[in-house]
Amino acid sequence: MPRLVYVMAASHSGSTLLAMLLNAHPQVVTAGELKAVNLGDPERYRCSCHALLKSCDFWQTVNREMVANGHDFRIHDLARTHFDVFQSPWIQRLLRPLVRAQAWERLRELALALSPEWRHGLPIMLQRSRDLVHAVARVAGAEVVVESSKVGMRLKMLAEHTDLDIHVVRLIRDGRAVALTYMRPAEFADAKDASLRGGGTGANHDHTLDMAAAAREWRRSNEEAEALLAQLPGLPVIQLNYEALCSDPLQEVNCVFAALGLSPIATLDGFRDVPHHVIGNGMRLDSDSRIVLDDRWRQTLSEDELHTFAAVAGGLNRSYGYV
Ligand SMILES: [Zn+2]
Repeated sequence: MPRLVYVMAASHSGSTLLAMLLNAHPQVVTAGELKAVNLGDPERYRCSCHALLKSCDFWQTVNREMVANGHDFRIHDLARTHFDVFQSPWIQRLLRPLVRAQAWERLRELALALSPEWRHGLPIMLQRSRDLVHAVARVAGAEVVVESSKVGMRLKMLAEHTDLDIHVVRLIRDGRAVALTYMRPAEFADAKDASLRGGGTGANHDHTLDMAAAAREWRRSNEEAEALLAQLPGLPVIQLNYEALCSDPLQEVNCVFAALGLSPIATLDGFRDVPHHVIGNGMRLDSDSRIVLDDRWRQTLSEDELHTFAAVAGGLNRSYGYV
């Protein structure tokens, strides 16, 4: 029975870095974003091994495992392991708000349950997701699978409706750094090599936010994590900071391994040389194994922008120890 480590973090908080570092343990395999959506052009999307996702050997073996298990499945264009399987605009509208307090979530569940498409489709989507975790573990010969989809509702559904043994790793990063990545994603949030951005297609990011919206997005994402974990009290949670991860990565990942009952590892040198097949943020395609704290927000954000951040999300940021 594999264990699933679900990374909870606001986007661009270092979750792909963490997921790739965890993959250095011989009993851990990182799959990345098993929701397998937002791949842009699925025909051109690259796995972190740099093969096209559709022709990567690892994922082709996983595809065969899934088919042998009775699923019509291809990771790059027929995963159907996420909420995008639902066509109904009613369902999509109900799923859009991030997780809130329990009373609100009860209403959401009641409203979703009115839809026959949801009642029929959810168990199938979750069964595929559960079987995919098992298939990835089997193909990799690992006992722990790391998923970095980072969608709160997805974690909630997996925890409440499947038999997966889930551990949450919550990663928190200074909101000012994260907000900058939402404001200027091409420069601050993707592969260093511009030709590898957009999942290896070199595509540009066209989605940029102003500081108020960026700060709100970071705050909402962390509020979601707190609401969610309050509603899933049985789940073991390991909390890390991005900044500590960058300053002593080996110690931080060994803390995670200890919490999972795994033996510590001796080094992270060359962590990118360990075979990996990760779906997600562009940094998985970089080749540099050095880990450097990215705090370019200190030189980049203007006084005005810092004031705006403080007004929108300063309290929460300070509560996490960022001054
Ligand atoms: Zn691959």
